[in-house]
Amino acid sequence: MHEMSIAMAVVGQVEEAAESGGASAVTAVRLEVGELAGVVPDALAFCFELACAGTVLEGARLVTETVAARARCGACGHAWPTGMPPDLCCPGCARATDVELVAGRELRILTVDWEDGPAPRTARTREPISEEG
Ligand SMILES: [Zn+2]
Repeated sequence: MHEMSIAMAVVGQVEEAAESGGASAVTAVRLEVGELAGVVPDALAFCFELACAGTVLEGARLVTETVAARARCGACGHAWPTGMPPDLCCPGCARATDVELVAGRELRILTVDWEDGPAPRTARTREPISEEG
């Protein structure tokens, strides 16, 4: 399942960050999820709970922040929110040939909150989430 592999990747990254920060319990994880990332928030929340079981993340809250998808037209420079499903035809010049998606595919950890440890309560991870399989 798509969401399961994402959830496992998130848990893996947070575990690593918590370990290097000396934390023993993670309370919340904030994720940035693009509108077009193809993630169903409910499914992700469910998978996240499963993936957290037996780790330092057990019982942690998952907060997802949706990023609206935006496109930009190379021909006239117009930028617009694409919506979902994405509308990739420029409302400025009605062309769809030189359209670039500038936002909406995000999928990364924003912040991690944990209960103890000498490190700051909030940690940033380095890499975007990569899916396995
Ligand atoms: Zn245009």
